[in-house]
Amino acid sequence: MKFSELKLNEGLLDAISYMGYENATPIQEAAIPVILKNRDIIGCAQTGTGKTAAFVLPILHKLAAKEDTSTNTLIIVPTRELAVQIEQQIQGLSYFVSVGSKAIYGGGGGKDWQEEKEALQHGTDIIVATPGKLLSHIKLGYVDFSKLEHLILDEADRMLDMGFADDLNTIFKALPAKRQNIFFSATMASGIRKLAHNYLHQPFEINLALSKPAEGVKQLAYLAFDEQKNKLLDLLLQEDQRKNYERIILFTSTKSKVSDIVRFFKRQGYKAKGISSNLEQDEREEVLRGFRSGRIPLLVATDVMSRGIDIKEINLVINYDCPGDAEDYVHRVGRTARANTEGEAITLINPKDMRRFAKIETLIGYEVPKSPLPESLGAAPEWSVPVKKKKSYSNKKKRPFKKKPNQKNS
Ligand code: AMP
Repeated sequence: MKFSELKLNEGLLDAISYMGYENATPIQEAAIPVILKNRDIIGCAQTGTGKTAAFVLPILHKLAAKEDTSTNTLIIVPTRELAVQIEQQIQGLSYFVSVGSKAIYGGGGGKDWQEEKEALQHGTDIIVATPGKLLSHIKLGYVDFSKLEHLILDEADRMLDMGFADDLNTIFKALPAKRQNIFFSATMASGIRKLAHNYLHQPFEINLALSKPAEGVKQLAYLAFDEQKNKLLDLLLQEDQRKNYERIILFTSTKSKVSDIVRFFKRQGYKAKGISSNLEQDEREEVLRGFRSGRIPLLVATDVMSRGIDIKEINLVINYDCPGDAEDYVHRVGRTARANTEGEAITLINPKDMRRFAKIETLIGYEVPKSPLPESLGAAPEWSVPVKKKKSYSNKKKRPFKKKPNQKNS
């Protein structure tokens, strides 16, 4: 569908064509008309589908006619990186319309605080914020959301995973009850359904089927014990076809693994850098700039960081650990082979991750080829996916209920 069919403001259509977008993506086609009609939305869509523009464009269309500077739209996101990226898209798309925006996230200094306070107190059309920092401002009493009309939650599932549920509920209390709510989430976990049930009014549901990795991505997996992983990657990266790779991104599950892996690769002579919430905001931006420009060819990132990094043209994605679910897998693998180019995705699977990987394969409908380990590394673990036995609980024995710990940082 052409954007012109969506009846958007002329200035926005000009910006869209400057951004190089030709046709609306499926999520844009579905969401834009509904948002223009002021209906609540619950949308299941991953990053990479164009969902940012799907909510930013109709909001900008409505704001183009607005005259005062009060805060009209609040966009809440899980990470600083995502806040910065969304604000950049707002700036790009609003180039020919007069709309102000401000990103508010943790990690800045006193000057940032003052500027954020100014925007929250006196108003700016669109605020993009992470929950923790926004709440710190709200608690000081000067934030004016009295004229707010739109609340957008992006990557809502990730925010709940990061333990932000209480912060979100407190923030919602500071907003006018009458508003349009637009919630986007990569998965429809039960927590998201509950949040939607509590806050959305007869929402329009958008459910984009889980996309499959692009055709051009060569997917490979290696069965390996943890202690074999670093050496295996070193050998793989030295193979001829990978020697000229300009951008390789490696995802792992914890911050401590990021440092260990970076240390290993540096010792082997690679230009590697890590990115996790351990770094200050300006340090993270510096690392991302280096990676984008090709100065840092190997980036090691935590899972939580993974969704906030919008960098295309990655030659190789390495899943050092098996991703938590199929959406994460598709999302990460989708960073390579953009726009019909070729890319590679390698997943390392230890015995503990085999069942999880088998589930991912079922969901993507593709059995990822398992390559043998180079002989010098010794024997690989055997592929085996034990069938989980169903437990039966008698009345006498209470079903054990284990609460998932909330993790705020990763
Ligand atoms: P998102 O899913 O919002 O993270 O968007 C992923 C990427 O797609 C971003 O780099 C956008 O600039 C780009 N994009 C968004 N909409 C379109 C479109 N209609 N055509 C081409 N690229 C787009």
